[in-house]
Amino acid sequence: MSGIWLPGAALIISIFLTFLFFLKNNSQNEETKIYKYLVIFNLLYSFLGVLGYVVAINFGSIYITGVIQSFYLVVMNIIILLILLYAITISNISPKVEKILKRIFAIFTLIIIAFILALPIDTIITENTLDVNGPAYYAAMVGIITYVPIILIFYIRYIFSKGFNYKKCIPFFVLLIMFIFGLILRRYYPEVITETFIFSFYVLVMYHTIENPDVKMIRELEIAKNEADKANQAKSDFLSSMSHEIRTPLNAIVGLSEDLQEDPNCPESMKEDLSDIVSASETLLEIVGNILDISKIETNNMEINEHIYNYKDEITKLAKLDSTRIGDKDIKLTVDFASDLPYELIGDKVHVKQIVNNLLTNAIKYTDQGYIKLTTKCINDVNNMTTTLYITCEDSGRGIKKENISKLFTKFERLDIEKNSTTEGTGLGLAITKQLVEMMGGNINLSSTFGKGTIFVVKLPQKIKVLTKPEEIVINQNKEEVNYQGHTVLIVDDNKLNIKVAKRCMTSLGFTCSEALSGTDAINLTKNNHYDLILMDIMMPNMSGEECFKIIKEEPNFYSKVIALTADAISGAEDKYRSEGFDEYISKPFTKIDMIDKLKKINFK
Ligand code: ATP
Ligand code: MG
Repeated sequence: MSGIWLPGAALIISIFLTFLFFLKNNSQNEETKIYKYLVIFNLLYSFLGVLGYVVAINFGSIYITGVIQSFYLVVMNIIILLILLYAITISNISPKVEKILKRIFAIFTLIIIAFILALPIDTIITENTLDVNGPAYYAAMVGIITYVPIILIFYIRYIFSKGFNYKKCIPFFVLLIMFIFGLILRRYYPEVITETFIFSFYVLVMYHTIENPDVKMIRELEIAKNEADKANQAKSDFLSSMSHEIRTPLNAIVGLSEDLQEDPNCPESMKEDLSDIVSASETLLEIVGNILDISKIETNNMEINEHIYNYKDEITKLAKLDSTRIGDKDIKLTVDFASDLPYELIGDKVHVKQIVNNLLTNAIKYTDQGYIKLTTKCINDVNNMTTTLYITCEDSGRGIKKENISKLFTKFERLDIEKNSTTEGTGLGLAITKQLVEMMGGNINLSSTFGKGTIFVVKLPQKIKVLTKPEEIVINQNKEEVNYQGHTVLIVDDNKLNIKVAKRCMTSLGFTCSEALSGTDAINLTKNNHYDLILMDIMMPNMSGEECFKIIKEEPNFYSKVIALTADAISGAEDKYRSEGFDEYISKPFTKIDMIDKLKKINFK
């Protein structure tokens, strides 16, 4: 009975493997399906191997052992067919050919099986050995010997199908080597039956190479990912609503402070405080804006909106505005543009300005004295009407240590905390800048000497709208005076304080103001009165500004200009409101100058 150990071991491996495979929640791809049948037939094969041995040794019945051996050979052929089907499946041939080949081989195996069952079998039982021979055995061998080289061909095809990929061939090569080794062993020790052990070992090795992801784990991961996505979405929603909530009261603070500053009765000492209130509110606004931006970038909601703009004008205005931040520091700020800079570009003006603004405010913040040079050079591709801007911001400030450069673009990372503690900031500016630059197809680099200064260089592709400034003939120049005396405006806002701020601004521009605290009020008012202009707040309870506008614009004699008023500084908002029919869009908080700008833009006269 010494020869039973290997078939016995094979049976144990097969039982173990069957449990292992079926206890797991398996995926349902073609590969796993074939493997499933391999596991089942391998178990049957190992069982028949042991059964034949036990029957032969205990009962010595050649007839019953012969029947078992016939089935044993049948199962062996089915296993080799399954191995071939597996090799065909992974070899990357066209699905149509794959189907035909699989059918042909299945029919061929059926014929072999028919021969095995029909032909006589020679069972050899000696004291130690159980062997098989005869025509049925030769038929079985025809099946095996035909398939081995075919399997090899498909595996070789698989190896070269996606680069050099050999992982899934390992079990087959293990099988081949063990088979040859088994044959040699059998010659010298005929009592050792190796086949079932070799196949079981093959199926065991294969278990580790098939694409059989743990379905349960994937499901759990999917659930966890969905939850994380939901939490992330909730975070973004929270941030955007928080930003809205903060912007609304800030609107009142900025608006009323500006008004008070202009009041001739306001004492000088108070004017200074008021200007501090405005600048602190603006800083707060920037922080809120930054947090909103980073959350938008992280949730892939940041959009790039292209418009025609004059780069030189926009950046000059921006630099002028930023230069007020220098305060009484001894810094010389120069702004320089290449002479071949195109007159008008097409690009995301708002974000280009945001990028330059972040670099410039950093330079101002982190430079105590010396100079800041903002330079823009460009390489124009006139044939394709594109240009690459090279925006350089150089300062003679504190510089950045080499080891800190890699941390610079990480969000919430601020360097030299002790030194920075007196400088405002959240550490988001450069993280946002880098993301924006990359979203627009550019890149950002820097070079810095600690203690001496820093140079940031942004490379930014933009389209060219107009290459050189068209010649302008001025016939008559009038000094423009803004006065909207005699015009009526309806201010629609659910927040009384906001109405108060807007009213002051509009009254100072000469408008006669009416107010509505809800969409319904606005609808009623517009039914009986005509207003030259309507300032429509968007976020209102019960009826949004958009809904209200939809209704009032259906009125037969409606021809008011309507400006959407909102605390959401969402990129793309401008386009959205315009497409809904609003003439303009203004984000709160707004200044008198912002309002004049918008009125000019819509040709309000
Ligand atoms: P925020 O821009 O969000 O208001 P912040 O300016 O601290 O805050 P970043 O603009 O991301 O954040 O800059 C990150 C850090 O890099 C800064 O805290 C500062 O230490 C350093 N840094 C940035 N620009 C310069 C510069 N021109 N010179 C020296 N250090 C700089
Ligand atoms: Mg900054």
